[in-house]
Amino acid sequence: MNENNPLSPCGVYIHIPFCHSKCVYCDFYSLSSVGKKRELLDCLHKEIASRAGEWRDYRVATIYIGGGTPSLLGGEEICSLMECVRGCMNVSPDAEITIEANPDDVTSIKTRQWMDAGINRVSIGVQSFYDETLKKIGRRHTGKRAYEAIDIIRTSGIENVSVDIIYGIPERSDEHLIEDIHRAVTSGAKHISAYALTREEGTVMDKMIKRGTFPPLDEEMMESQYHIVCDELEKAGFTHYEVSNFALEGYRSIHNSAYWKRVPYIGIGPSAHSFCGDKRRWNVSSVGGYIKGMNDAAEYWEQESLTWRDVHNEIVMTSLRCVEGVDLDDIRERFGEEYVERIKSLSARYVDEGLVVLEKDRLCLTRRGVFLSDGIEADLFLTDDDSLNNKA
Ligand code: SF4
Repeated sequence: MNENNPLSPCGVYIHIPFCHSKCVYCDFYSLSSVGKKRELLDCLHKEIASRAGEWRDYRVATIYIGGGTPSLLGGEEICSLMECVRGCMNVSPDAEITIEANPDDVTSIKTRQWMDAGINRVSIGVQSFYDETLKKIGRRHTGKRAYEAIDIIRTSGIENVSVDIIYGIPERSDEHLIEDIHRAVTSGAKHISAYALTREEGTVMDKMIKRGTFPPLDEEMMESQYHIVCDELEKAGFTHYEVSNFALEGYRSIHNSAYWKRVPYIGIGPSAHSFCGDKRRWNVSSVGGYIKGMNDAAEYWEQESLTWRDVHNEIVMTSLRCVEGVDLDDIRERFGEEYVERIKSLSARYVDEGLVVLEKDRLCLTRRGVFLSDGIEADLFLTDDDSLNNKA
């Protein structure tokens, strides 16, 4: 493939639904037993081969192996998955290929195997460098191990390392958070994802909070720690380019940015989602159900066609999350002037409150607005009762 390749870009997401154990806050689909690993891998290969034909008019610009904990797979298993993707799809020679890793799984042998597989970016789930904080949220690694793992990855030659940090953990002081950020920065990370600890229904943490064995989350502390994260990372030269993501120049996540720009992607594996412009499809969130579906040639997925309203709302939501904001010219072109006027009038009160700014036909969240983005996005969505919805 040459650089003049006319094919449109797409992403590939592969979900590895296994973890060593369950973190107390996590509501992602994953199992802590790897008993079905072999069968699952066979089915991932089958799914890639069986669906690649639908994607023959695309060029794979990014691949993301996520989970779960994909780093618990052997290096040769990752190589074989990547060979399968390359054999079935048009993968760009310069594709960004990311693997999510748990610090405990990182060894220099494995990292070299990842490089052989073409992996050029590692997203590592550090969350904190303090052992007591890690223990509290159910992470198995230590702070020292996290630091060593980042060093192994970088020394092996993968420079593009992203570190995940969690803020808003009850009883962790601001000083500890600042130190965590400082350690992430000095570890050489080029990209940092900072997530607010969130209470999701049905998680272990949710049950512990109900039982009184985990302190309740404190919204005020969450907001003030969010500002600490922004201040510290901006001081260190990172650009806050999406609600939870910060990058040094040239190191934004291409794969995740493509989601927010509505670039099509194919999702492989249990619970993985796919998007192709006017449809979204999702695989069953069950390893057993997925394997059965693949082996019996039965349906293991559902899909929905997006309405005009869905597309409008998705554009508002994903664009507002990014530093570039909602491009009102694009809204005008796709939907018409009345939709631009509607967004301007609904956002006027947020402009007055300093939560959004309207500049050069772009509507962007301010830093305070980013923290309240869910509510602002929801107010700008087209709803059933909206008069403009009738045009949809
Ligand atoms: S390692 Fe990640 S996916 Fe697995 S339980 Fe923890 S947070 Fe969830």
